[in-house]
Amino acid sequence: MTEKQQSSDVLIVGAGPTGLLLAGDLATAGVRVTVLEKRAGESDLTRAFTVHARTLEQFDARGLADELIATGSPLSSLRLFGRLRIELGGLPTRFPFVLITPQSHTERLLQERALKAGATILRGTEVTGLRQDAEGVRVEAGEGAAAVVHRARYVVGADGVHSTVRDLLGIPFPGESVVDSVLLADVRLERTPDEVLTVGANENGFAFLAPFGDGWYRVIAWDRSRRLSDSAPTSLSEISDITRRALGEDYGLHDARWMSRFHSDERQAPNYRSGRVFLAGDAAHCHSPAGGQGMNTGLQDAANLSWKLVAAVHGWAPDALLDTYQTERHPVGRAVLRASGALVRLALARSAPTRALRSALTAFADSLGPVAAQGARTVSGLGIRYPAAKDAHPLAGRRIPDLRLTGLHPAGEQPGGPGRLYEALRAGRFVLVSNDELSAADPWADRVVTAAPADPHGKLRDTVLLVRPDGYAAWAAVDPSRGELRAALAQWLGSPSDG
Ligand SMILES: Cc1cc2nc3c(=O)[nH]c(=O)nc-3n(C[C@H](O)[C@H](O)[C@H](O)COP(=O)(O)OP(=O)(O)OC[C@H]3O[C@@H](n4cnc5c(N)ncnc54)[C@H](O)[C@@H]3O)c2cc1C
Repeated sequence: MTEKQQSSDVLIVGAGPTGLLLAGDLATAGVRVTVLEKRAGESDLTRAFTVHARTLEQFDARGLADELIATGSPLSSLRLFGRLRIELGGLPTRFPFVLITPQSHTERLLQERALKAGATILRGTEVTGLRQDAEGVRVEAGEGAAAVVHRARYVVGADGVHSTVRDLLGIPFPGESVVDSVLLADVRLERTPDEVLTVGANENGFAFLAPFGDGWYRVIAWDRSRRLSDSAPTSLSEISDITRRALGEDYGLHDARWMSRFHSDERQAPNYRSGRVFLAGDAAHCHSPAGGQGMNTGLQDAANLSWKLVAAVHGWAPDALLDTYQTERHPVGRAVLRASGALVRLALARSAPTRALRSALTAFADSLGPVAAQGARTVSGLGIRYPAAKDAHPLAGRRIPDLRLTGLHPAGEQPGGPGRLYEALRAGRFVLVSNDELSAADPWADRVVTAAPADPHGKLRDTVLLVRPDGYAAWAAVDPSRGELRAALAQWLGSPSDG
């Protein structure tokens, strides 16, 4: 075996949605990034179909939202089972809906962006070894017959549920299996369903139909009386039978191009970081597909980690900034596991009390008002909030909506002119919003965009707001002194002389 050596600032293992978003962000910020992917070709196996509002906001902050929306169908409500619907139309966002589009479209857009920004993606390269010291990380990968050694300052394991990186770090992945023997197939239908997503459940199981948009449909079907191992053969008649009983008809499904049987686990790594190595996406957490959260959560992990790694590589990350990846994202992962676990247990309920709860939720679906509104915020990802200091301004750690701005400087779609916050975030920097004179931020001009609120008399009249590159408030204060503002900038953006 020959041995080649390559080096990068950040090495990402896995070219799924999580790794590709991260790679695009890092490359856009001028970081040398390499992605190692064991599959030789691109994946044609779509798993996720739902892109939620907060994820679309992250795509908007990268100039990709309109293109992604054009690939799918927006749905303004999500039906869970029976009459139980989560209404999304009232969500406070530019994207008050869930987008139904195959995962392959999402990955394609993210890959194009990453390559255009200069990321290197090496396919057919499987990571097999990893060692780190104070200076960096050494990763061994097999590329055909050749062994390649990659060196990087940081490594991110975005290598999915069976993460090699997690195993090499010795990080456990505790949890349990929640649903087994779920049948998947890609089929054609003789009759087009009335709804974009068709979901139904009965005493014995459930079925789900989603369109790829090109005439093919994904069917997912489960029956509690047919529990077989993942390797047991599948047949179209079995899938049709379960679908007919759960949905009332099978829409004439035929011509399966692909069928599989899978089981779904609920697991989470206790640590998302070990020294210079991080875990993100399914490598850090996995759960049932109920609620369509997995890919969305992985993409949010990537959006949270990318700007912190940029700061570390450019040498201005304040102490402990990288640790906030764990303190911010681990609780979100835990909450997603709990919510999707509750949903799947309710859907599969057998015990009389749980079935009674499901019937009650379904029967009173229309009067669930505030609970349903909270459910919509949770499912959409808009309700996520990161921890903030006890004495911090109430906005600290909160998602900031798409504010109208003016006088954007020095970056943004229209420098000096009007714009939106999520356009300003496309520079990959912090955004400082204030009606006051903004020259206090001049020493950090390479890390921050400044702007004034478009309505000088609106809610932010006297408030100075510092928004992180991922769209959450880092800091806010009412009428701060110049010294207080500079202290906040130094806390979040490091010393101006670093980097
Ligand atoms: C049936 C089903 C339906 C789903 N529906 C939804 C949904 O509607 N909405 C939603 O948000 N989520 C959904 N999910 C979950 C979603 O598909 C995953 O959460 C998402 O793909 C995770 O992305 P990732 O980038 O973290 O990992 P992955 O997509 O798994 O990518 C990991 C990559 O790492 C590569 N890799 C692994 N090991 C190595 C190695 N040693 N060296 C190099 N490369 C390696 C793999 O080849 C792979 O390409 C669903 C999942 C299933 C199973």
